Amino acid sequence: MLRENPCIKEALLYEQLESEFEDGKKKVRCRTCERFCEINIGKSGFCKTRMNSDGKLYTLEYGDISSISANPIEKKPFFHLFPGSKALTVGSYGCNFSCPWCQNWDISKSVPNPARCNYVSPEKLVRIVKEKGCQGTSISFNEPTLLFEYSLDVFELAKKGGYYNTYVTNGYMSTEALKLLVEHGLDAMNVDVKGCEEAVRKYCGADVGKVWRNIKEAKRKGVHIEITTLIIPGVNEDEECLRSIASRIRKDTGENTPWHVTQYYPAYRALDFGLYKGRTPVEILERAWEIGKEEGLDYVYIGNVPGHPYENTYCPHCGALLIKRYGFDVVSYRITTENKCPECGECIPICSKFGGILNKQ
Ligand code: SF4
Repeated sequence: MLRENPCIKEALLYEQLESEFEDGKKKVRCRTCERFCEINIGKSGFCKTRMNSDGKLYTLEYGDISSISANPIEKKPFFHLFPGSKALTVGSYGCNFSCPWCQNWDISKSVPNPARCNYVSPEKLVRIVKEKGCQGTSISFNEPTLLFEYSLDVFELAKKGGYYNTYVTNGYMSTEALKLLVEHGLDAMNVDVKGCEEAVRKYCGADVGKVWRNIKEAKRKGVHIEITTLIIPGVNEDEECLRSIASRIRKDTGENTPWHVTQYYPAYRALDFGLYKGRTPVEILERAWEIGKEEGLDYVYIGNVPGHPYENTYCPHCGALLIKRYGFDVVSYRITTENKCPECGECIPICSKFGGILNKQ
């Protein structure tokens, strides 16, 4: 019965382990993300989206769409990827991290229920991309890696239709998963670097070193990278932490990589964990912006503060205003068709509708 449901599909990345139960059925190891969960018969992994049934691993949420909307690409946020375009954005359920401040907790902390799944086939999804006038796809809302098998099918079809494909992710997929995503048409990732080693281990139960490894590897494979850090007082706003994130971005992916420092508000279990009770003060975000610039990043953006001047793009050479934004809207766009600053001729690394291309290797 499990296998008649379109939302239940055998996982691609797993292996059966040597130890057998009495009936010959096997424990499995999921290889989708860096947790590498070992899962007994009838049990699911940390994310609760993958289950061992009779010694085979199944995803329980293939194409089970919890949310769908045509969003400005700036909302992901991507500021250097086809500015002003729209991405059909979808998500499902669950997460492989345990962040107590999760801003999307209503879906990320829910588990899929295949008996009530809202199945949208990859073919239908790509049709909706066209119907809604979008230029690309974005798998987001909850951790997209948990929609791994679906992503591969969607990306391949979307590419054939001439659309771009993006992930908004914690960057904790396995290297095998990342490789397959890129091979199937992943163009860009916004990776959430949640803090320094200790904070990420304490609050998210994860090894941020694996996230940095994936960022570097994705960049090497030609994936457009933007980084986001939700700035949470008491978790990651100290100077040493922010400086180390900014310098690591520059070292691993270059000074052109956009870094979004975004405003937090308490959600999910943040207050149970004694985290900051209000929105992050704008002065702290501005200090994070300055640190990013001091560490040599050319494009640092303040997020979730509509109308702030640091949500605009300025020329790193002459300071001219190049893209003026308000929230998720592009208000004006002054980069030339050759991707240059109109004032000083500096090259601006933006994949644009005016001829910018995704520079895949
Ligand atoms: S995707 Fe990650 S968290 Fe989920 S079962 Fe697989 S290894 Fe575990």
